[in-house]
Amino acid sequence: MRVTEALGEQFKVIALSAHKNYPLLAEQVRQYKPKIVCISDSGLVDELSKELKGVDIEIIHGPGGLTEIAKSEEVGTVLASVVGAAGLPALFEAAKKGKRLAIANKEPLVVAGELLTRTASENNAEILPIDSEHSAIFQSLQAGSVDEVNKIILTASGGPFRDSSIEQFQQAQNEQALAHPTWDMGPKITVDSATMMNKALELIEAHWLFSMPVEKIDVLIHPQSIVHSMVEFVDGSVIAQLGTPDMCTPIQYALTYPGRTAGISSHLKLDDIKNLTFEKPDTKKFKALKIGYEAARTGGTACAVFNAANETAVELFLGDKIRLGVIIELIEHCLSKHQSKTNVSLDELLAADEWARKEVHECLNQRVN
Ligand code: MG
Repeated sequence: MRVTEALGEQFKVIALSAHKNYPLLAEQVRQYKPKIVCISDSGLVDELSKELKGVDIEIIHGPGGLTEIAKSEEVGTVLASVVGAAGLPALFEAAKKGKRLAIANKEPLVVAGELLTRTASENNAEILPIDSEHSAIFQSLQAGSVDEVNKIILTASGGPFRDSSIEQFQQAQNEQALAHPTWDMGPKITVDSATMMNKALELIEAHWLFSMPVEKIDVLIHPQSIVHSMVEFVDGSVIAQLGTPDMCTPIQYALTYPGRTAGISSHLKLDDIKNLTFEKPDTKKFKALKIGYEAARTGGTACAVFNAANETAVELFLGDKIRLGVIIELIEHCLSKHQSKTNVSLDELLAADEWARKEVHECLNQRVN
């Protein structure tokens, strides 16, 4: 919201949504004055209405409300940051209407990347990434065409266990995993960063978003988080995007592309940073990367299972039910039991997602008993 505000007159917020946080939603409505507001948890619609008494606004609710917003004629860009698979139907509607999709969370492209990118290209909808690495790749790709790419280099901070032993990593608990060195993020993504699942999910995201075979996507550890990712072209030139670790930059670029304007992001002072280092990740310790490459190669429903098993396992980890290393074991278990289907519908993807969530709990019960 701060980004659109800084961009001034050229952007108007038409609609806002939240799942449960109605007090913050109401505050944003009063500040940004959209025409429509949606609370996707229908049970909270009365609370939201009370908060917005006297405000001239259309209040809608439930998952269908998100779809209504995404379809609205007045909306040109849909910025999606909906956890889990809940935002997918709305994004597909926006894609079918040929809108610009600015996607902040990983699930749409990880779970339904093949279907979503196909639907978007059939309807001339643009997908612009807000994930910082993908924004960096997208920006670097402006220097050439996809056919001229030799490889994509995804950078990773390496998380808090970059220098730990395999044993320390596997046995880690909640508070050790939640200490992220460079980015200030929510608990789920911080755990994903500690296991490097975050990078595995980003690998799948990049694979679909840029139609790039996974063999052409490398991961490099870059602890300073200044080079947000790079593209190496066939002539050997490497184009990178650098910036402070500030999400305002990718959000703004997704809105203003193909143009650029001054905004609220802080600017880099390279002379303060001095060193930029790169190293290969330890794939024995961070097995998530290896599994991510395999899931991307398998395609179909495998990536949906990979994502859902991780989400469920991370919840268990955050609830102190399992150690860090068990997250990966549970994902491996689900993928080994799953028969991946290709050429699938959104419903089949969502069914695979649901199956994986149940399977994680089942597997854990069996381990305990
Ligand atoms: Mg990222």
